[in-house]
Amino acid sequence: MARDYYQILGVDEKADKDEIKKKYRVLAKKYHPDRNKGDKASEDKFKEISAAYDTLKDDKKRQQYDMIRRYGGDPRMGGSGFPGGGFPGRGFPGGGGFRSNGNIDINDMFGSGGMGDIFSALFGDNVRSRTRQRNRQPNQPRKGRSLKIDMDITPEQSANGVKKKIRIMLPEECDTCNGSGYKKGGGSRACTRCHGTGQVSFAQGGFAISRPCPSCLGRGVEQRQMCDRCKGTGAIKKRKTIAVKIPAGIEDTGTVRLRGLGYPGKNGGSKGDLIIKVSIMGDQKFAREDKNIKTSVDISFPQAALGTKVPVQTLTKKVMLNIPAGTQPGTKMRLKGAGIKVGDEQGDLLVTVNIVVPKDLTDRQKELLEEFEELSKQAA
Ligand SMILES: [Zn+2]
Ligand SMILES: [Zn+2]
Repeated sequence: MARDYYQILGVDEKADKDEIKKKYRVLAKKYHPDRNKGDKASEDKFKEISAAYDTLKDDKKRQQYDMIRRYGGDPRMGGSGFPGGGFPGRGFPGGGGFRSNGNIDINDMFGSGGMGDIFSALFGDNVRSRTRQRNRQPNQPRKGRSLKIDMDITPEQSANGVKKKIRIMLPEECDTCNGSGYKKGGGSRACTRCHGTGQVSFAQGGFAISRPCPSCLGRGVEQRQMCDRCKGTGAIKKRKTIAVKIPAGIEDTGTVRLRGLGYPGKNGGSKGDLIIKVSIMGDQKFAREDKNIKTSVDISFPQAALGTKVPVQTLTKKVMLNIPAGTQPGTKMRLKGAGIKVGDEQGDLLVTVNIVVPKDLTDRQKELLEEFEELSKQAA
């Protein structure tokens, strides 16, 4: 016989708190285990009464119970259930329990979060997170995993962008099993975990909550043998040549995403992506600092003293850099606009001037330098 909290206490569903309390006290006294020693029926009755009162005395619990009752519940109470199956109307057997026949998706019925919130309020948050997680539709289309690879480029390539052809192993749907991962003709059997129902239930606070079986993903069947070719993954990798375009101005560790080149999706979901992580190689000639590029040139002491023009390699071309007379070691010269364009900002090329002190001088060079030093002293 189906049980309803209001019926258990013998009150109308519009009864106020005082009335509920009064009825509870009468019944609790009557069926109290101390008064009915050894009487199993009375003991069960007392448990029922307590459970009913515990919910109906609390405004919030009562409100939520009313909602469950209305949508889920006892057919005698006029609960018509939800469209698409609803709660199958076994009512609230025993001590106010709540059962399904195992084909309910809680989130379908109440919209995402709705039922979870009710359970959460009644029984604590752990139930809420579990119902959420476990009621993810197992058969809904899911996008495939993404594949990640690394690519090194030079600072010049980061500045100008680059198109590369690369040969890599890309995952494709296994054509032996059409992506299912199972051996054709391998046979199937009822899932041993859910005994073919596709649902497993867990109990919480007197409620039995169903969720899709995690072993068979709610299908109710498990295949006997994995596909030999793809080892059950549903995907095999094939070597392919693809064109990759790295945009100008990409940062170190920046990524380029090529849609649809990752793993095949499940249940008709789209393929994952190929994600290329770009590293800008350390280059002896250039170092990158945000939008600016740094480099250096070596000049001799006489060139520094007298001034000169030296060739400097920028990211794109060779230019002549004008070194004024009297340039000091470590002087930084800026070539405007020769850096990297980041957004709307165009970086510069910063050139550090190194002055190379000569070693292994010839006798004539020594003679001249000594003479130079003598003249410098006189001038000072
Ligand atoms: Zn199963
Ligand atoms: Zn396969």
